[in-house]
Amino acid sequence: MNKITKQNDHLIVPDKVTIPFIEGDGVGAEITPVSQKIVNAAIEKAYGSRRSIEWKEVLAGEKAFNQTGSWLPDETMDAFREYIVGIKGPLTTPIGGGIRSLNVALRQTLDLYVCLRPVRWFKGVVSPVREPQKVDMYVFRENTEDIYAGIEWQQGTPEAAKFLRFLTEEMGVTKVRFPETSSFGVKPVSVEGTERLVRAAIEFALTNQLPSVTLVHKGNIMKFTEGGFKLWGYALAEREFGNKTFTWPQYEKIKKEKGEAEAAKALAEASATGKVIIKDVIADAFLQNTLLIPEEYSVIATLNLNGDYISDQLAAMVGGIGIAPGANINYNSGYAIFEATHGTAPNIAGKNIVNPSSLLLSSVMMLEYMGWNEAANLITAAMEKAFSKGEATNDLARFMPEGKSLGTKEFGDCIISLL
Ligand code: NAD
Repeated sequence: MNKITKQNDHLIVPDKVTIPFIEGDGVGAEITPVSQKIVNAAIEKAYGSRRSIEWKEVLAGEKAFNQTGSWLPDETMDAFREYIVGIKGPLTTPIGGGIRSLNVALRQTLDLYVCLRPVRWFKGVVSPVREPQKVDMYVFRENTEDIYAGIEWQQGTPEAAKFLRFLTEEMGVTKVRFPETSSFGVKPVSVEGTERLVRAAIEFALTNQLPSVTLVHKGNIMKFTEGGFKLWGYALAEREFGNKTFTWPQYEKIKKEKGEAEAAKALAEASATGKVIIKDVIADAFLQNTLLIPEEYSVIATLNLNGDYISDQLAAMVGGIGIAPGANINYNSGYAIFEATHGTAPNIAGKNIVNPSSLLLSSVMMLEYMGWNEAANLITAAMEKAFSKGEATNDLARFMPEGKSLGTKEFGDCIISLL
């Protein structure tokens, strides 16, 4: 039996495990084999012959289209369901043909409601900020709701006119500034969607002994959607994690009843006893604060659109998209697809210069998700060593004072030699 299974909230991972992978288009053909080679070497170093991954290729994207006529064959979805955990390279977004984005299709079909993006800095990597070592965050981006649900109508269409009539005639809306030329989008944000995302973020903080979870929202303007996210998030923390968290509303209540000194004392006590502090911040202030006081933030729980902007800004602060990993996870079913967060980079494909670190760090996340932490740690430590010596692919090495540009394959071999 080489399949991962889920039993009573736990993943059961066999020592010889099959992992389905999508190679990816463009640079996928370069980063995928290099990452797999490193992962195999790290597993062997950590566990000898006791553990290993059998990589099972499944098709998606251009490669799938050329071979099967389908951008996302059913067999691929079946394999991800069957094997629970998988990994993918970047995919070309098909132009036309009914699929908006293959990534969105994968996330929606498996209901992968968390997009998890850890952001940390590696010594040696040149950053546009002065103290990148203070950036150490885990972004939990809601992956299934918000304006990304794709409910929108283009201006000038009968649908947009119908929606406008509904707004004005049935809902009494008078605030559309240019009604005749407006496109419309609908932003669904639910209690369930918020709760499962915030629950996952709090559980992650507790498991990894992280100090806080910050709810990032724009509730000052979008009161019922983003404001709801904040209220429901706090309510969930107090209801389900009452003895393990301390929330800002609790702080405010103590302050009102007993004064600020008592509230500060309660907060300090909560932190000292390992409770996770649950706080919130408005999205625009958060983006400023990430530059000014990044050390204030650890786990971030946020809505879909905010999460998109936030993860790219944070990635840029520690070295850019070539090194930012990600995963799409459903913590209830266990389904998880780890992924390179960058695109297919057609401008550099086939030149052996692409940085494989995004997919490699996503593989590290996958190993951690499987509980194979020893192998994961070996890879992270080897990357720390390589970057601190200035050994990196050209996208990073060209900015390093002592940088030595390595090709994609050579960088992979360098990491293996440092395991
Ligand atoms: P891109 O991420 O492919 O490239 C943007 C820039 O970053 C390019 O200059 C590229 O050379 C550079 N770059 C990206 N990854 C790099 C790496 N690992 N090492 C070094 N440099 C790297 O974005 P794009 O050009 O806007 O998109 C190209 C295609 O990829 C499109 O079809 C797009 O839809 C698709 N895409 C897919 C994903 C995904 O599958 N997750 C994400 C984004 C874009």
